[in-house]
Amino acid sequence: MRVFKFGGASVKDANGVKNVVNVLQYEGVENTLIVVSAMGKITNALEKVVYSYLYEKEKLKEALQYIETFHFAIIDELFEKEHAIYQETNRLLGQLQGFLINNTAVNYNYIYDQVVSYGELLSTKIVSHYLNEQKINATWLDIRTIIKTDENHRNATVNWEATQQNCEKLTAALYLTQGFIASSKNNTTTTLGREGSDYSAGILAYCLQAESVTIWKDVDGVLNADPRVFDATVLLEQISYQEAIEMAFYGASVIHPKTIKPLENKKIPLYVRSFINLKSKGTKVSKGVDLHPKTSCFIVKKNQILVSISTKDFSFMVEENLSAIFKQLHLDKLKVNLIQNSAISFSVCLEDNFFNFNQFYDELHTKYKIKYNTNVTLYTVRHFDKKAIEQIELKGKLLLKQISRETVQLVIDEK
Ligand code: ADP
Ligand code: ASP
Ligand code: MG
Repeated sequence: MRVFKFGGASVKDANGVKNVVNVLQYEGVENTLIVVSAMGKITNALEKVVYSYLYEKEKLKEALQYIETFHFAIIDELFEKEHAIYQETNRLLGQLQGFLINNTAVNYNYIYDQVVSYGELLSTKIVSHYLNEQKINATWLDIRTIIKTDENHRNATVNWEATQQNCEKLTAALYLTQGFIASSKNNTTTTLGREGSDYSAGILAYCLQAESVTIWKDVDGVLNADPRVFDATVLLEQISYQEAIEMAFYGASVIHPKTIKPLENKKIPLYVRSFINLKSKGTKVSKGVDLHPKTSCFIVKKNQILVSISTKDFSFMVEENLSAIFKQLHLDKLKVNLIQNSAISFSVCLEDNFFNFNQFYDELHTKYKIKYNTNVTLYTVRHFDKKAIEQIELKGKLLLKQISRETVQLVIDEK
């Protein structure tokens, strides 16, 4: 069995869906399980539905209308007027509205999962019907009957045993299913975290003992830097699992960080390939050489907060203070991307995804002296040389630099 994953960018419009057929015709379809994300930026649009439903009711209708118009515009381009997909799409949209009308729960994360999961349900229905129209016989699979998780909504943890057992039911030659979504023991819909479809592909490959996973992208493969930020990029033809984990950990958004470990455990190679340039071999992630060609790799994280904390009574920054600070970071769900400690001061580069930084500041500022810079950029360079560091230092005011054997991290104020 092979696992293919098509992300939102690959099915962002009708041409994207048509191109999935090209890819499958080029690659063959035997013994393949295809994982598909929500179309384009639909997950963001569904997040707006959740937000309006809870906090801005007057905008809910408009938010839902966007979802409907977006999908029907694609369907109109792909299918004849009487096609069954119209009814199926209306049924799914009706279910979503029914949930919003009947729901009495107040838990944001639970509501989020029930709503946002429709992105993947809609996209896979559309793609699978289109494949069947093109005589590619794919079985549509509700992945919630296979991938089982706990009830930690928005960031659910996989129940590997139950998932593995369910995978034994999969016998068809070609499946098409959803990324990102799963379900708990009592069949409530859960999700695996934003950008989690890569992870779904990794989970399924692990449980099915797949021969390979291919992630189809709008770029040639894993590049040594994000092409949206750097002009000259180099295709990495081969990287090790370890290198891919490091790059994803530091924030290279091309692969979801949790994807690699299950593949590494079963030595399943991961290919990252272009869905446009099918002849290009892309990147192979497997056991072996760190990376080829050997070149510096750049990872950028924007919108960071650099915080320096010192004690007001001139005591040292040792375990007791550090543990109090870490506890607060954890409570406020602030993601720490870099840490630097000295005798009297402690610096962290943070990401405030849940808008809790002010709360964090309020909690600590009576006891500690806190200085911070907002909206700074964290650059991570793997396999750096002098030239690579100089290139980054030219981008703005250097606020902090940390060097280890293979990795240098620089916090830069680019304003
Ligand atoms: P998908 O919708 O398929 O998940 P994404 O848009 O999430 O696709 O990811 C693909 C994008 O990731 C590319 O278009 C590219 O701009 C960006 N990207 C960031 N870092 C890298 C990198 N190191 N190599 C390749 N692409 C990268
Ligand atoms: N659709 C989900 C998201 O946008 C999952 C994914 O695309 O990987 O986060
Ligand atoms: Mg993505």
